[in-house]
Order: sequence, then C-alpha cells, then structure tokens
Amino acid sequence: MVPGLVCPACGRQYEPGPDEPWRCACGAPLEIDATPAVPEMPPAFDRDQGLWAFHSLLPVDREVSLGEGFTPLVEAPEWNADFKLEYVSPSGSFKDRGATTTLSRAAALGVERIVEDSSGNAGAAIALYAARAGIDAEIYVPEGVKPAKRAAIAGTGATVVEVPGDRAAVSEAARSAVESGAGWYASHAWNPAFFAGTATTAFEIVAQRGGSAPDAVVAPIGHGTLFLGLFRGFEAMDAAGWIDQRPRLLGVQAAGVAPIANDGSGARNDFADGIQIAEPARNAEIERAIETTDGDAIAVGEAETRAAWKALHRAGFHVEPTSAVAVAGLETYRERDLDSTAEVVVPLTGSGLKTDPSA
Ligand SMILES: [Zn+2]
Repeated sequence: MVPGLVCPACGRQYEPGPDEPWRCACGAPLEIDATPAVPEMPPAFDRDQGLWAFHSLLPVDREVSLGEGFTPLVEAPEWNADFKLEYVSPSGSFKDRGATTTLSRAAALGVERIVEDSSGNAGAAIALYAARAGIDAEIYVPEGVKPAKRAAIAGTGATVVEVPGDRAAVSEAARSAVESGAGWYASHAWNPAFFAGTATTAFEIVAQRGGSAPDAVVAPIGHGTLFLGLFRGFEAMDAAGWIDQRPRLLGVQAAGVAPIANDGSGARNDFADGIQIAEPARNAEIERAIETTDGDAIAVGEAETRAAWKALHRAGFHVEPTSAVAVAGLETYRERDLDSTAEVVVPLTGSGLKTDPSA
C-alpha cells in the first residue's frame, strides 16, 4: 500500500495516485504521509544494497534501482576533511538518490508519464531512472543548455523541451504542463519522495564513520535537495539516539543568486549555474535546518570557485563547478569559526565529465 500525501502547513491529506497534486491547495510543498519508525539501534546493513540498505527507514519501497548509494567517503588531507564522492553514481551526481526513490514511488502508483524541469543533473537522473522504469519522461531545460547535459538527458529516450527565459521560466513551463495533464511532477524541488532518497546521505556518512556524526557537513544549496536530505537524515538519527550530536549544516551558495545567504547583490557566480535558484521551494525548512544545527549559509564568487575546482582536479577529484562551491566555502568557514580540529564532511555532488570544457 503506497502512502498518500500530507501538508505540514495546513494538514490537508491527499490520496495517493498518478493524479495526486504536486503541491498543497494552500501552496505549500507536500510530504509523504508516513513516518517509518527509526529503530533504537542502527539496523544491520548490507552495502551491496546501496542506499536501499536503509529501506526500513524510508517511506518508499524499492521499485527502480541502478545500484546507487554507498558512495565512497575518502580522506582529503589538503582540505583537512573527508569528501563523500557523490559523483560516483549512475548518472554522475547525488541526484540519483532522489531519482531512485521518486521513480520507485511513481512506479508503485502506476504513473505512465513524468515531467521534470532542471538545468542539468536532476534532469539527467530523473530521465535515467524513468527509462529504467519504462515510464515516459518529459524534461524541461533552459534554452541553450550545455550540449553535454542535454545529451545526458536525451540519450535516455526522454523528450527534451527547451524553454526560453530564465530558470524560473523553465519551472513555470513544466508546472503548467503538469497542470494540463502532461504527467506526474517528478520534481527534485517539490516531490517529497526525492528527499527520502537524499536523506540516505546522512545515514551513510554515520555508517561509514563507524557510527559517529562529524562536527559539520559543508554542502551546496540550490533548491536544498541535498542540504535538506542531510538535515532530515541526521534529525532522524538524533531522535533515535544513534548519534550524540547533530552536525552543523553549513551551506554554500553561488554569489549573486544566494537567497539563503542573503547575498543577491554581488557579481553573479555563473560558473556555478547549477545552483542558481532564486526561490527555493522549501526555503522555510532550509532556514530551520540552519537555525537548529547552529548552521550557516554563505555565498562564494566565481574566482574562488574556479580556484577550488582546479585544485580539486589536481588532487584527484574530477568534479563539477557546484561541487567546488562547497569546497571553496569550506575554506571560508575554516577562516571564520570552524576550528581546525572540527571533523568535516563535504559531499562532492557531481561529476566533472558533464562540465563543458569551455565553461
Ligand atoms: Zn496545505
């Protein structure tokens, strides 16, 4: 039995099904109406199951999987941190975590056609898992999207719809298609099943560290899909008594389009265009995650991002610019108030292979 949806803002409930709404009548993002009980002790897990090793903690059953999750956690001595290599994923980014849970729920509901909008990684991940599920996909992208990103989506057999205008115009076009019946909205920003998947990042970090949480996690924030997954995962483990402390969640945004860091005035960091989101769908929860974990959000500029990106590649980490944003931000946090003894994990979100060399 697939659970329905509930609105945390007003309490309205919705029956599950291919025609369920993509957001509440009150306008708020919905959640899955099920909270799996987190056992008091971490369950025995089998890494060969990838992130589905934690299936008992997820409100979604596995229907569509490509072996995602349990990405390596490796030392990065140059940065005095551990990097979690999310780019070692089926479509090359952490978005596969959300894609496996979102398409699993879609398949369980009998959805035949999905719609998503993305500037790159989320579109590629959703399209890949839709292909695996045998579900038709229509992915809305900004007009003039980089050829490597377009190819990653189109190669799955998905229909690519190019939309003129800014990133917000692309979302608007996708949502009006959904509302006129084009398909189920598999949005990485709005669909609650996506966040069930990204929460597994936190479970894995604790499992890979032998049961302890780090002092801080530094992660990029666009729509906050990874940041909120981390928050939800650590919160669940803290409530269950698995960990002694919740890590500080330290967000990093692209200068010029940084609503959480409150930095929209400076020069735009267009190198990190993957996280240029002016209005994150779950803004209020991102603020709460920062507040309750003694976290923070800062913005970094293009020059620092490029420098970090080059240094990462030379050190063996071939990542995309948005991953370098987090590493550039780590340096700023270290200078500010992050003690050099603090144990820090930085997820490297996406592969450099999809980055246009001329970027
Ligand atoms: Zn509501």
